[in-house]
Amino acid sequence: MSLKNRTRIKEALISPESDKAITVKGWVRTRRGNKKIAFISLNDGSTINNLQIVADVPAFPEDLLRQVTTGACISVTGKLTSSVGSGQSVEILAETIELYGAADPNSYPLQKKGHSLEFLREIAHLRPRTNTFGAIFRIRHAMSYAIHKYFNDNGFFYLHTPIITGSDAEGAGEMFRVTTLDMLNPPKTADGKINFREDFFGKETNLTVSGQLEGELGALALSEIYTFGPTFRAENSNTPRHLAEFWMIEPEMAFYDIDDNMDLAEDFLKYLTTYALEHCNDDLQFLNNMYDKELLGRLSSVINTDFERITYTRAIDILSAADVTFEFPTSWGSDLQSEHERYLVEKHFQKPVIITGYPKKIKAFYMKQNDDGNTVRAMDVLFPKIGEIIGGSQREDDLQKLESRISELGIPADELGWYLDTRRFGSAPHSGFGLGFERMMLFITGMSNIRDVMPFPRTPKNAEF
Ligand code: ATP
Ligand code: MN
Repeated sequence: MSLKNRTRIKEALISPESDKAITVKGWVRTRRGNKKIAFISLNDGSTINNLQIVADVPAFPEDLLRQVTTGACISVTGKLTSSVGSGQSVEILAETIELYGAADPNSYPLQKKGHSLEFLREIAHLRPRTNTFGAIFRIRHAMSYAIHKYFNDNGFFYLHTPIITGSDAEGAGEMFRVTTLDMLNPPKTADGKINFREDFFGKETNLTVSGQLEGELGALALSEIYTFGPTFRAENSNTPRHLAEFWMIEPEMAFYDIDDNMDLAEDFLKYLTTYALEHCNDDLQFLNNMYDKELLGRLSSVINTDFERITYTRAIDILSAADVTFEFPTSWGSDLQSEHERYLVEKHFQKPVIITGYPKKIKAFYMKQNDDGNTVRAMDVLFPKIGEIIGGSQREDDLQKLESRISELGIPADELGWYLDTRRFGSAPHSGFGLGFERMMLFITGMSNIRDVMPFPRTPKNAEF
């Protein structure tokens, strides 16, 4: 029998009782019992539920069972029988047990007692073995799959945009430099500056903050594309909603105006939420019971409500009239902070809100300018407990308006020649948005810190694992 031949615990748990022995493999969650009988609770990551293994202690070498402790990895063969104990329908009566790897109880950090999320972040290499992180990472997988499925089913093409970028015009925040120059002795130009012509790419390069600009190039040829990849921001914002490395989903669509863009965003978010409820039930139930009793209710309510769509101007009016004191006061022209976004979503409307028509001053150069000369066709989608989950816009498709905005902002236009070519040749109305994958994961799992929905998070002063 090949080594990988095994029954996944997820399948074993729903299998009927049978006379044929099966083999399961996994990590011991707990072991209890006495000198005669041992109950081993086994998990292989296929489901949040454990399979109970019952072992007749005298039938096994003492040295073997002694090492079957929390964290050890074992392979067990035996018959699946209906369980007399409560809490499970079937269990395995062990015939053979093979120990792959012991886990010394004196040093294995995950013991039966619950651990704090903070402590588990320090052992991110082992936390996938906990119920919580097993659930989160299974959901993360299901959401990734659902994202590709949604776009594929709707005629979008998955476009791979570069991770290393030579343009610093995206304007989404601080970037991480990519270089092969000797930092202690970099080549210099005549005027004493670092000579990036001698760098690997012959110019300054950074890790991308967004795939959007290249995404637009794809949309203006393939009509509807999306990207789904890592992005990087060297912003020193130590918040529960920011990572230095995060994943972003960025659809970009030709022939979509801002309303079409909002329709897509709303439909997409509802699809992902529905998918999670339909495919991740056990894991969501666990997280609901463990961390956030309102999680399942919140997920269902998002599916069943129309998102509120308001202008930025209306949002400012509502916030100015609110009888709460915000840390940051608002007036027309100021950017909305997370406290404002959450007030609108959680207190005022009590449902997701999409804000459009932002002041052009606080938004990126590529957003389509409205005729009022002050606002742009931006849209931010705000979610309960999260604040901004999506940022997007209709893109400026008029070459002249785009060029004048670029020069107003002092962005080096020569770096953007390739981008402007799309407006020069066969320009088309088009729109797109970026959904932060980990923000979506926060919403779906009900976790409150973004470090807990990313397997190995990167934040200021932290790039362990
Ligand atoms: P915020 O104001 O919350 O910093 P942003 O305006 O910088 O967001 P965009 O540049 O519009 O965000 O990026 C699109 C989406 O990417 C955001 O709506 C959010 O979901 C996500 N996002 C942005 N920055 C981060 C980050 N540092 N970590 C995780 N997700 C992020
Ligand atoms: Mn930001």
